[in-house]
Amino acid sequence: MKRIDFLKILGGSTVLSAVLPGALRAGSMKHRNALTKPVSIATWRFGLETTAEAMKVLSAGGSALDATEAGVKLCEADPNERSVGLGGRPDRDGHVTLDSCCMDHLGNIGSVAAVENVVHVSSLARAVMEKTPHVMLVGEGARQFAQEMGFPLQDLMVPDSKQEWEKWREKSNYRPIVNIENHDTIGQLSLDQEGRLAGICTTSGMAFKMRGRVGDSPIIGAGLYVDGAIGAATATGHGEEVIRVVGSYRVVSEMERGFSPQEACERAVRKIHEFFERRNAGIEDTQIGFIAMDTEGKVGAFALRPGFQYAMARSGQAPELIDVGALLA
Ligand code: ASP
Repeated sequence: MKRIDFLKILGGSTVLSAVLPGALRAGSMKHRNALTKPVSIATWRFGLETTAEAMKVLSAGGSALDATEAGVKLCEADPNERSVGLGGRPDRDGHVTLDSCCMDHLGNIGSVAAVENVVHVSSLARAVMEKTPHVMLVGEGARQFAQEMGFPLQDLMVPDSKQEWEKWREKSNYRPIVNIENHDTIGQLSLDQEGRLAGICTTSGMAFKMRGRVGDSPIIGAGLYVDGAIGAATATGHGEEVIRVVGSYRVVSEMERGFSPQEACERAVRKIHEFFERRNAGIEDTQIGFIAMDTEGKVGAFALRPGFQYAMARSGQAPELIDVGALLA
């Protein structure tokens, strides 16, 4: 492991950073939290591309919401991403259904769930926010609204997803497992030059889910939350567990109580773990990760188990991919 990667992992965990010599600790955290605005962060490796795209909008003085939307749309349009937008894995009956939500610094919210045939569900969620008196549209109604708004409708299944689904159907073992390999929701948060925060979460959800299953990603408070006066958070991983603790809202409310974005993410992950223990439920097939940012542009991230990464693009710096610390080994 390269030294810088080692430091990045340590930088993601206060538990571990407590044993680091002060100079090293200060060095790595300074790098992570050098408070240059604007900034955009996003879950997983594809965030490198989406945060870079967002940075183009932010650097030109664009809003956090416009920047975030421009970023996640790249991922939604990529047929090779198996868990977002076009090419997302279908449900167990072979329908690709997408979920998304958005929130801005003023508390404007929009969401769509279980939508078929629309690639850019992030934009559709935004349209719900901006063009309707409602906050959430689902299923056929959401698709109808998309059509009315001029969104192109298309088949979202790509040959590789179809092949995977057909292979899965040979056994049709319905056991939703969320591990590193089969989930990759994109949650992206941006802070613009004027200090406005916004976020978007977009996904095809759990692979081969039950028809009609909706996870955390389009649920405001679970998959995403933004409080323009405090901070923002978004989640990836096992949606049912994130919903159980109202994950993203929990992270932001921990920040409101005075915890740093890093500490807030750690506290939310610990709470999820606590709920598993309380229910005596098996945790081995579960992964959850949070990323968070405050109004100054300080960031944090934490996961249940190792393997989670997020990308960050900061003004004047090359986008970087950061390994996230984890509660479980
Ligand atoms: N959070 C998503 C869901 O439960 C899954 C994921 O992150 O891949 O639908």
